[in-house]
Amino acid sequence: MPLVPYNELLKAARHGEYAVGAFNIFGLEFLPAILEVAEEEKSPVIMQINPVHFYLSDLPEYLSYVKSQIAKTRIPVGLNLDHGKNRDIILKGIRDGFPSVMFDGSQYPYAENKTKTREIVEICKPIGITVEAELGTLNDEGLELTKDNQNLLFTDPDKAAEFVNETGIDGLAVAIGNAHGFYKGEPKLDFKRLKKIRDKVPVPLVLHGGSGIAVADFKKAVSLGINKINIYTEMSASASMMMKTLLNAQEKPADFPASLYKVRLAVKEVVREKITIFGSCGKA
Ligand SMILES: [Zn+2]
Repeated sequence: MPLVPYNELLKAARHGEYAVGAFNIFGLEFLPAILEVAEEEKSPVIMQINPVHFYLSDLPEYLSYVKSQIAKTRIPVGLNLDHGKNRDIILKGIRDGFPSVMFDGSQYPYAENKTKTREIVEICKPIGITVEAELGTLNDEGLELTKDNQNLLFTDPDKAAEFVNETGIDGLAVAIGNAHGFYKGEPKLDFKRLKKIRDKVPVPLVLHGGSGIAVADFKKAVSLGINKINIYTEMSASASMMMKTLLNAQEKPADFPASLYKVRLAVKEVVREKITIFGSCGKA
């Protein structure tokens, strides 16, 4: 079916008490893996592209190909620009065909993040583009967490409510102990904080940095109001490990297409595992 808007996907997830998996694509390797699994499991899904991967394709051509593949499925699929860090990238994303964007102003102080996010919403809303934004700082540096730096880094529930009300965003990415890439040590999510944010914020909540979070923690996060979970690192790692294993096992020069196909199967299993945990299987 044709693309389904971000808001519709997340509204259904909120109503059904599950999370939609948002998986990064960048070429022709992960795209069929994700769509195939979502169809097999009758699960809604979101495809995302991070600007760090724009160099791998001609973006307008690539997006029209992605949309053509989405249109062939019988499941609800969204398409989102992931981590647009400035206005120019957001504008390029919209021009090239994204129906929804994430503006990431989390590197700015609170007031500046709020102003910049509101400016993006003012551009996007009138043309029907949804906006996800982020408040707080993901612990990507793997800092040892204390009460003091948690209060500094993590999303503040009161500020979150104000941020959402004053910007008009459609989804809020929270920082509650989650991080991009591989976690240094066990990730510890601040569920009390998540619940407070949920109680104060009227829009769906998003968890970035889903690779490496324990099954029970995912389930708890979903039960406390997370309706979208981003996954990239685990797919990338699984694809790389499969390629390494295949290359090591082959004595002759590698059969690259056959290897790519096996990589696709490895990525499918990561996606299947995640959407099963997120509770979205059978919801399409
Ligand atoms: Zn992210």
